[in-house]
Amino acid sequence: MSISRRQLISGSASFAGVMMFGAPAVLGQGKPRVVVIGGGAGGVTAAKYIAKDSAGTISVTLVEPLAKYQTCFHSNLYLGGVRDYPSITHGYGAVKKHGVTIVADRATKIDRDKKEVILASGKKLPYDRLVVSPGIDLKYDSVPGWSQAAEEKMPHAWKPGAQTLLLKKRLDAVPNGGVIVMIAPPNPYRCPPGPYERVSMMAHALKKAKKDRSKIIIIDPKDTFSKQGLFQEGWEKHYKGMVEWLGPKVHDGLKSVDPKTNTVVTGFETYKNAALVNVIPAQMAGSIARDAGLANATGYCAIDPTNMKSATDSNIYILGDACIAGDMPKSAFSANSQAKVAAMMIRGELVSARTFPARYTNTCWSMIDTDDTVKIGGAYEPKDGKIAAASTFVSKTGEDAELRKQTQAENMGWYAGITADMFA
Ligand SMILES: Cc1cc2nc3c(=O)[nH]c(=O)nc-3n(C[C@H](O)[C@H](O)[C@H](O)COP(=O)(O)OP(=O)(O)OC[C@H]3O[C@@H](n4cnc5c(N)ncnc54)[C@H](O)[C@@H]3O)c2cc1C
Repeated sequence: MSISRRQLISGSASFAGVMMFGAPAVLGQGKPRVVVIGGGAGGVTAAKYIAKDSAGTISVTLVEPLAKYQTCFHSNLYLGGVRDYPSITHGYGAVKKHGVTIVADRATKIDRDKKEVILASGKKLPYDRLVVSPGIDLKYDSVPGWSQAAEEKMPHAWKPGAQTLLLKKRLDAVPNGGVIVMIAPPNPYRCPPGPYERVSMMAHALKKAKKDRSKIIIIDPKDTFSKQGLFQEGWEKHYKGMVEWLGPKVHDGLKSVDPKTNTVVTGFETYKNAALVNVIPAQMAGSIARDAGLANATGYCAIDPTNMKSATDSNIYILGDACIAGDMPKSAFSANSQAKVAAMMIRGELVSARTFPARYTNTCWSMIDTDDTVKIGGAYEPKDGKIAAASTFVSKTGEDAELRKQTQAENMGWYAGITADMFA
């Protein structure tokens, strides 16, 4: 069989498509094409690793409307005055150097039959494999009386950017003796220990500003929460009398909120004129995934735990908060770990790269006070149709101060490491 020079240059011959650059498995075209929706912890990691490790043999396009990514992770440390805002803000410049084409646009539709992503601009991006990592959407109707319009008055700050800045501004304006009410979310939600680390960092900021007559009341729909014993021990130690956690048996249900008067009504008590109400509502996968029929009745997307492929479309991989990851929590660490599995499997499918059985890891650190940080985590593998915990660990109550200080150093090291892994 002979191949013309023109065919080789254009990549139009299927034989050339197979043989050039180490045997792409997608026939009848030049380079195989991967489109990634969402430049967060899952998406940017997948895009970078597919491009970097395939050394130009796969065309990788990342669709992300925001020019800068503000991390939700460590946004609580920003609230606490431990980090500044520029240090949790990252750009995509270096990702381009790995060969990723960045398209600053929003994906509005996935045409699964034609294997195309349609953008807000109207442009269409064909794909051989699609990675979907859009994070979460908030269920604005899950808290009676609250709405998208009310998020300016009662911020959630569960998506980063303007909301994080607003919550910080409002926190700094709380007077000594002011009451903060946090509405905690039901499971499953982004970052299980996040609300309670936030409470810790809010109390830290209040105490530092000598506003220790202020109080934070948590109205929680859950009977228990992540690292509960560790947080409650820490609140008692560092913020005595400042934090009150109320489970559903005590508050008897959240009845309504009124953004006009900053009022929160539960079955047990009415909190009028709160200095700040932080509503963290129920959540679901980002709309682009739901609208494409990738989510099930839970609002999240089922995946094959051996490779992170969508359970409903074998050309699509779903990462991070949008997917149902079994025992793994919805965290940036998890999304980054899942992205590396997906990147390897995609290279295996498209350019016959070697693959290994999927293995995942996660650790979530939570800062309670200066030099007092705790962690929870585990190693995970596919088992019985889900991502199952193979081993887990969690900090213990009563640990000595030196260990907690080391755990905080690990936390800062992890942040530097994961953000470099995503953006450098
Ligand atoms: C307060 C708080 C603290 C946290 N702390 C930690 C922590 O300490 N450790 C940890 O590991 N995790 C933490 N997390 C969780 C972590 O932020 C998320 O789990 C992680 O960001 C999930 O990654 P993702 O890729 O799924 O989504 P994201 O990181 O949210 O990225 C999604 C991206 O997709 C884009 N997007 C959405 N829709 C579209 C579309 N239609 N077209 C194109 N782009 C789109 C968005 O703009 C966004 O940039 C925390 C979260 C919160 C809220």
